[in-house]
Amino acid sequence: MAKHSIAKLARMTLVLVGLSILATAAHAQSSGANGKQSGTASVEPYPNMPSIPPIGVKTGKYFDVPVTEQGPAIDPAKGYRLQDFGGGLYMITDNQIQSMFMVYDRGVVVMDAPQSFASSIRKAIAEVTDKPITHLVYSHSHGDHIGGAKTLGNIPVIIAHAETLRLLKRDADPNRPLPTVTFTDKYTLQVGGQTLELSYHGPGHDPGNIFIYAPKQRVLMAIDLVFPGWMPWRRFAVAQDVVDAFARVEDIRKMDWDIIVGGHVTRVGTHADVERQSEFYRDIKQAAATALATTKVGEGINPLDKDNPWALFDDFIDRVALQCVNTLTPKWSTRLAGFDVFIWDQCYTMEQTLRID
Ligand SMILES: [Zn+2]
Repeated sequence: MAKHSIAKLARMTLVLVGLSILATAAHAQSSGANGKQSGTASVEPYPNMPSIPPIGVKTGKYFDVPVTEQGPAIDPAKGYRLQDFGGGLYMITDNQIQSMFMVYDRGVVVMDAPQSFASSIRKAIAEVTDKPITHLVYSHSHGDHIGGAKTLGNIPVIIAHAETLRLLKRDADPNRPLPTVTFTDKYTLQVGGQTLELSYHGPGHDPGNIFIYAPKQRVLMAIDLVFPGWMPWRRFAVAQDVVDAFARVEDIRKMDWDIIVGGHVTRVGTHADVERQSEFYRDIKQAAATALATTKVGEGINPLDKDNPWALFDDFIDRVALQCVNTLTPKWSTRLAGFDVFIWDQCYTMEQTLRID
């Protein structure tokens, strides 16, 4: 066979092999041949797809954080900052997470010991007093807020809700020592001239998540429910019970206090911040309810999937969530820092809550 004929045959073989690979791939995609499944991403996005990337899609650049929500600077050498509320009450924060301590005549009461800066808590306290830590109060069971408790050493009294004790026994985490004093409804801690009123309102965020109120300083510590100036963390701050978590924000709104320590983000909050979050919750509930009422199951889905009930609802829920995102974006994208980061999570969660709770 002439040289050029061999070359031609080789090229033809390559083309044929290439075609056969393409054909096999196409067959596998449409029918799951060879026992393999490879679902195809739709070439057409949903109509009216928001410009904010949905969950699982990389964001090129998140919205800028407004200067007002960037928070006071943290001294990088210290890694935390202290905020003095007066009357012996202080907040420690790294602008991500917050804890407090209160100085009384014979000692110090610490409220929460976050993993991220618990090792600096003693140093922070030493900036204002050399009195010993006598009490530790747990706001709730979650590791991000109390997972540094062990690093404080042996604290004689650890106070928490009975549900927090139950959860901590279950979790058996050596970094979160068990409470020594528990309560179910209310507990008043009186030490020296200082008072802390602990109360339980419901399991919204986490069973056993309590409010800690310092009446003399008029500071309320209520963790993982209110996010001053910011979009709440995803899924309404991983609320165990979204309906109850929304109700707790309304409790906080109606209570009498001057400063709220919410446990996260860059600053403490005011009543105006809680009003804003409450308004956002009303709006997202309305937006998701309207989307649920006006979206039809199965509309626009690939006819080949019409007998797959999971697929029908996946497609339906996507369209409800995207309508919810579109409804909220014009008003809220500039009113809550980090709106774009978690709005999809919130709309998916709101849709589910309205449908099943
Ligand atoms: Zn939590």
